[in-house]
Amino acid sequence: MQECQHLNNCEFVLRYVAQVKPHWDDFVSLYCCGDFQENCQRLEHFKAHGMLPDSALMPTGQRVPQNLEKE
Ligand code: SF4
Repeated sequence: MQECQHLNNCEFVLRYVAQVKPHWDDFVSLYCCGDFQENCQRLEHFKAHGMLPDSALMPTGQRVPQNLEKE
């Protein structure tokens, strides 16, 4: 699977994956660089609206836990 075109400017990756490193590294390997990419809800939002959603929407479609969002 080709790396997601947004990997270098995806605010979820830049902010939250970096913040909790290494716990969410699997999101990058599975979604951003892997076969789950076609299910990424951030990408779905991009396809529908022409822009990525806010940083707190996870590839799964859930939002990051509130305590992380406040940091
Ligand atoms: S989280 Fe989704 S939109 Fe962001 S880089 Fe990974 S696959 Fe692309």
